[in-house]
Amino acid sequence: MPEQITQNMPSYLDSENPGPWGIFLEQVDRVAPYLGELSQWSDTLKYPERSLIVDVPVRLDDGTIAHFEGYRVQHSLNRGPGKGGVRFHQDVTLSEVMALSAWMSVKTAVVGLPFGGAKGGIRIDPRKYSAGEIERVTRRYTHEISAIIGVNKDIPGPDVNTNAQTMAWMMDTYSMCAGATQPGIVTGKPIPLGGSLGRVEATGRGVFIVGVAAAKDAGIDLTGARISIQGFGNVGGTAARLFNEIGSKVVAVQDHTGTLYNPNGLDVEALLAHVKATGGVGGAANATAIAADEFWAVETDILIPAALEGQITKRNADKIRARIIVEGANGPTTPEADDILNSRGVIVVPDVLANAGGVTVSYFEWVQNASSFYWSVEEINQRLETIMLNAYSCMSSTAAEHNVSLRTAAFITACTRILEARQLRGLYP
Ligand code: NAD
Repeated sequence: MPEQITQNMPSYLDSENPGPWGIFLEQVDRVAPYLGELSQWSDTLKYPERSLIVDVPVRLDDGTIAHFEGYRVQHSLNRGPGKGGVRFHQDVTLSEVMALSAWMSVKTAVVGLPFGGAKGGIRIDPRKYSAGEIERVTRRYTHEISAIIGVNKDIPGPDVNTNAQTMAWMMDTYSMCAGATQPGIVTGKPIPLGGSLGRVEATGRGVFIVGVAAAKDAGIDLTGARISIQGFGNVGGTAARLFNEIGSKVVAVQDHTGTLYNPNGLDVEALLAHVKATGGVGGAANATAIAADEFWAVETDILIPAALEGQITKRNADKIRARIIVEGANGPTTPEADDILNSRGVIVVPDVLANAGGVTVSYFEWVQNASSFYWSVEEINQRLETIMLNAYSCMSSTAAEHNVSLRTAAFITACTRILEARQLRGLYP
């Protein structure tokens, strides 16, 4: 049992601007009172187990050499190997990667996967570089972080601006150095390299599964129920298709090209085809284009933010006329907006559970790689549904027991699981 915990302000914390890591620290403080005797360990969540900063030097196509800063943070390895994506973005910082890795610890714990939390990133604007340059950046970064990743140590996956091709290069680089093909070193791989069936649509399917469960609890009949979706990409598009298939009406959608409204329900299949052909929903037929701000005021039963973080704020939380919000995106609701929505009785199914379908099928990919035995898509979707529904019902009963929001309940469950493991393992030496 720790008698004393170091309270020195770590170098990466700026008291003026807390940033994403500061937000995570506040979330830990908020949940600590609900952790019983485990709260004595809660400060361990505030210290990522390992944070690695690497230099990624590459020769550019014009013959010059450029340097990029890369990161891999393993927030918690108490419950199993680290798990989390790799982001390529010019604004990536150590603080952001630390927070994202911590939220991965929460996400894997809330759905009960035997993983910890990790995340990686490179400070690079990938749009400014050729495919060859991005491949060299990816391979050098993989080599630099290979000291701490491993099939049973830490398993990266795709995130913002990385995809199945990036994972193929990471797998190949790691395997070349290991002297043997190691498919389980990353997830989100192309199917011919050991990727899993069902992975591409897993996050949207998970959003749909918990959306259906939340609607049932709220007494909403989904036949003819209204659905609004911000973001019509992988997550939003899949959720739209699945709700449409059970007879709900997608009445409003918004993406970076426009906002569409049709109170009788948009033609989802036609809209998916339009997005595929043109890159966005803007200009699609059989819908009225409305102003971007009006999207939030559309009367709806379920609102699914599935685009960017920080979309529901104190500016628009009052206008929202949805009964349930299912967070497909990561961090779409600011803490102030969360408080406003709670006080107005809007049910918010939090991101750490609602969009955990992706990491769940990534776990299935890793299991299939380890056994070299591959499952049918029906089996994958069935197992995904079981895990998502178990996690949803655990979160709901924790919320009822403590009279707290679903988000706080999800954090209570996750932090309890992480800290139970921490306590059982004890401190070494
Ligand atoms: P995507 O790139 O396929 O789609 C993103 C969508 O957001 C697009 O429709 C785009 O037009 C829209 N968008 C971008 N800028 C916008 C703006 N300013 N206003 C309105 N819409 C805008 O991405 P995705 O994989 O569907 O991811 C969506 C969200 O879900 C992200 O927050 C991501 O972190 C989160 N998420 C994704 C996964 C996954 O497995 N794909 C897993 C967990 C969380």
